[in-house]
Amino acid sequence: MRTLAVFCGSAVGVNPIYSSIAVALAEELARREMSLVYGGGGVGIMGVLADAALARGVPVYGVIPAHLEEKEVGHKHLTRQEVVPSMHVRKARMAELADGFLALPGGVGTLEELFEVWTWGLLGLHGKPVAMLDVEGLFSPLIAAVDHLTAQGFIRAPDRDFLLHGADLPDLLDRMAAWERPTTFKWMRSVEET
Ligand code: AMP
Repeated sequence: MRTLAVFCGSAVGVNPIYSSIAVALAEELARREMSLVYGGGGVGIMGVLADAALARGVPVYGVIPAHLEEKEVGHKHLTRQEVVPSMHVRKARMAELADGFLALPGGVGTLEELFEVWTWGLLGLHGKPVAMLDVEGLFSPLIAAVDHLTAQGFIRAPDRDFLLHGADLPDLLDRMAAWERPTTFKWMRSVEET
């Protein structure tokens, strides 16, 4: 895994640990000689992560839609900032550039991006690891909801397990690096069972 796509908040959240984890991720990326792809924002956890990564010599690629860049929320000092026409093109471009996807603390935008790449993975549209870092239990209620949907028969156990999660950042990155794509996909399993 050479290039990591990170989805994270345009806010910093109420607990300083959310920003600390972004700095810890920047340190891990530098130590592992990896590059970062992210939404290109200069605000919130996004800005903290990009600044911390740049300060440690990590190449940082932003992919930002024109309407956000125009509002001057784009980061101005990235290794490369790609301005794209829409949110849809942004997600496709980030997926193309990255070898794996990680969600840090964030809100609706973060979850939307995470759930989309998770869905794409389940459909076999990519074979890259998708993970969520559960800082201080921030995402625990969400993980519980996913488990509930699995128990109720709306998410298959292998599809739930496709989404890696954990609270230990180095361990999660190691698991992402060691991850192997499943040999069957959601629609194939459905077809087999019918
Ligand atoms: P949220 O989690 O709702 O704060 O949204 C963060 C995610 O949405 C990021 O991963 C970005 O891709 C996108 N996003 C939201 N706000 C901005 C912004 N001001 N600049 C760039 N990207 C943004």
